[in-house]
Amino acid sequence: SKESGGNIFKFYSNISKFSIPNKMKLEHGMHKALENKEFMLYYQPKVCAKTGEVSGAEALIRWKHPEDGMIMPDQFISLAEESGLIVPIGEWVLRKACSQLKEWKSKGYPLSRVSVNCSILQFQQVEMPDLINRVLQETGIGPECLELEITESMIMKDSERIISQLLKIRGIGVNVSIDDFGKGYSSLSALKGLPVTCLKIDRSFINNIPDDRHNVAVVEAIIKLAHNIGLGVVAEGVETLDNVNALKTMECDEFQGYYFEKPLPHDKFVQFLMQTHKW
Ligand code: C2E
Ligand code: CA
Ligand code: CA
Repeated sequence: SKESGGNIFKFYSNISKFSIPNKMKLEHGMHKALENKEFMLYYQPKVCAKTGEVSGAEALIRWKHPEDGMIMPDQFISLAEESGLIVPIGEWVLRKACSQLKEWKSKGYPLSRVSVNCSILQFQQVEMPDLINRVLQETGIGPECLELEITESMIMKDSERIISQLLKIRGIGVNVSIDDFGKGYSSLSALKGLPVTCLKIDRSFINNIPDDRHNVAVVEAIIKLAHNIGLGVVAEGVETLDNVNALKTMECDEFQGYYFEKPLPHDKFVQFLMQTHKW
């Protein structure tokens, strides 16, 4: 039955990759990190394929640990999800990214949109739409200036609840993109009617095109379908000029990746914006 299937999944998903002492240490550390403001955001530009201008930036969390140095999200986000701490951490990320964008806009820097990664746990909070409204009001940015990135697997895991939240969030006017698209093997037709604005194709399909003919075919199909149902397409993990040219031929809308710029801390990102890049 659906019920027992859910339980089996839950059983397996509860196996932690962290040992108990490590887990306790890391969890305690994350609590302190929130209090002591040890988290910071890096920003990676998104580039418009047509104009070559910077169209937005994705906010990516870093943990500047006082003893252990810079800790990357892959080392703590999954435990933050296991422990529930991703909810307050995610709220901090949302606020920080929005207030940062407001500051940059008020200084006249050319950036119109910021994208924030959201965990399934945040999306499952009934208060999530209210929180977004509040943060938009507090920071004074318009809903069209914010984009949430959620993964394809998240939608498949708890689709009814996630879709009802998505409807509310789209009702506010906030953009939503499906991150890591292509990895989750959901059928392309299941996309139709999903209340989202954009697909972000997973980098495993991007970084070897046009050499990998199979991936070229997949990416081409995704872009065609997305456009047919009115969605924008971003390619992530764009690393070479060959990638860029192949994606341009396929009419991909936006690019993100090391070919343009890696994620940068605040000051470096501002310097980058000031150089008025155009590709
Ligand atoms: P993601 O959302 O898929 O973010 C893109 C990741 O790819 C980033 O890693 C980025 O540095 C990296 N990347 C960017 N361009 C390239 C490229 O050209 N080639 C390659 N090989 N990699 C590239 P990062 O910053 O380590 O983040 C890892 C993951 O951690 C993110 O994957 C996201 O799932 C999660 N994450 C980061 N920040 C947050 C956050 O604030 N909240 C939540 N819930 N998750 C976050
Ligand atoms: Ca992302
Ligand atoms: Ca991604």
